Amino acid sequence: MTGSLVWFRRDLRSYDHAALHHALAARGRVHAVFVFDPALLDPLPRADRRVEFIRHSLAALDAELRAAGGGLIVRHGNPVDEIPTLARELGVTAVHTNTDYEPSAIARDAAVAHALTDAGIGWHSWVDQVIFAPGQVLTGDGRPFTVFTPFRTAWLRRLAAEPARPYPIDLTGRLAAPPAQAAVPSLAELGFETVDGPDGAGTSAARRLLADFLYRIDDYHEARDFPAQPGTSRLSVHLRFGTISVRELVALAADRAAAGSTGAESWLSELVWREFYSQLLAHHPRVATEAFQPGYSRIEWAFGEQADLQFEAWCAGRTGYPLVDAGMRQLNRTGYLHNRLRMVTASFLVKDLGIDWRRGEAYFARQLLDFDLASNNGGWQWTASTGCDAQPYFRIFSPVRQSQRFDPTGAFIRSFVPELAGLDDRSIHAPWLLRTSVLAAAGVRLGQDYPTPLVDHATARQLTLERFASTRTLR
Ligand code: FAD
Repeated sequence: MTGSLVWFRRDLRSYDHAALHHALAARGRVHAVFVFDPALLDPLPRADRRVEFIRHSLAALDAELRAAGGGLIVRHGNPVDEIPTLARELGVTAVHTNTDYEPSAIARDAAVAHALTDAGIGWHSWVDQVIFAPGQVLTGDGRPFTVFTPFRTAWLRRLAAEPARPYPIDLTGRLAAPPAQAAVPSLAELGFETVDGPDGAGTSAARRLLADFLYRIDDYHEARDFPAQPGTSRLSVHLRFGTISVRELVALAADRAAAGSTGAESWLSELVWREFYSQLLAHHPRVATEAFQPGYSRIEWAFGEQADLQFEAWCAGRTGYPLVDAGMRQLNRTGYLHNRLRMVTASFLVKDLGIDWRRGEAYFARQLLDFDLASNNGGWQWTASTGCDAQPYFRIFSPVRQSQRFDPTGAFIRSFVPELAGLDDRSIHAPWLLRTSVLAAAGVRLGQDYPTPLVDHATARQLTLERFASTRTLR
């Protein structure tokens, strides 16, 4: 037995890669594998952006490995069977992978590790998806943090002591050629349809986004909240699937921040939020299904036919609140949603419609290209005020004020709600307040071209305050 097998999952790149680095440091040839798990693929709709992103990123990874004399082995099946079987077929001494901290991945990896150990094959799982793994940044008395600001302070302190450094990778002459096989299956062979095409996937797309963002990073703290501006990096999907290295991003941001860039400092903070939610889910896996604050599991959310209809209207971007609708339509049309609008749309569902945050969370999970269980759950619980370190329940976003403040000219609304495009910058945020003649001049028939509001915000706000207050007294 000789050599190693690297199992790629959320790390679809061949540079600065912990598992690949450590496999190359061992003796023997290095094999590479990706496993499509039918239990995850089969339930998905046939037009799924994520499968497409993964498929194109795998093709790019395969090309990078082939250029160095190797290539990717692609298997279909339950990884708990596939990985040990393949490791035995190849006769490797060890399997290397990068740790995935989601509860289902932890259970799956434990089963794989067990089967490998039984077969006398080593199992090595490395920290790569985050800078510091859950458990590496703890409070003074050794407990996980549940409040972000002290977590960030401790995290930054540790980063200063252990700066993020890339793992050097030299593939020359070290990769094993994959057994004769067709390359990565096409999307059609996987049984899926094209949605976006290959341009946005893989490490080259990530590099283009990063290069573009580095021109703008110094303004990030000012531009990041305005969805009509190119203020943020759009790198979330690449962090999700590892087509960019988080070490590289953190090192860049930390260097720029140290040189005095407020924008870079603020961006680094967002990367720390990602780590905060990752460790929170790992330490408290129950948050995947219930409120972090147990008392809020007793909230009586709206249900029944009217709630179902309102939920459908929210999903479709037909609530009658232009910024909420523009956000939901951006999500449906592109698979991406600007951070400010994730908060605005989530807040509207929970605090204006009184609908259980878990329904919205599940909808985002289906639609988001960058869907990440930890960040999505964290973002929803923060907005719903049910999470750790959440926004207090009595602070409720006004969908109109958010619109006036963060889309002041209505440019974002116009690009996703074209039926309101004829309204001027001041009127576009609340069309139901306009005179019929003003609406007619802009070509809008309220209730026909564009819906009247599902609820009155002031009334809905009051109901939400009562809903949360009564739950508090029950605790
Ligand atoms: P940038 O502003 O450029 O930030 C850089 C990176 O930092 C992001 O790519 C992301 O990895 C991380 N980041 C930024 N903000 C946050 C945050 N609040 N929490 C955690 N990480 C953050 N992010 C996801 O990656 N996947 C999700 O499924 C997800 N669901 C969300 C749901 C809700 C209700 C909310 C409020 C936020 C959610 N976020 C999620 C966080 C955030 O909205 C996105 O990461 C961000 O909008 C992605 O755009 P960007 O890459 O341009 O971000």
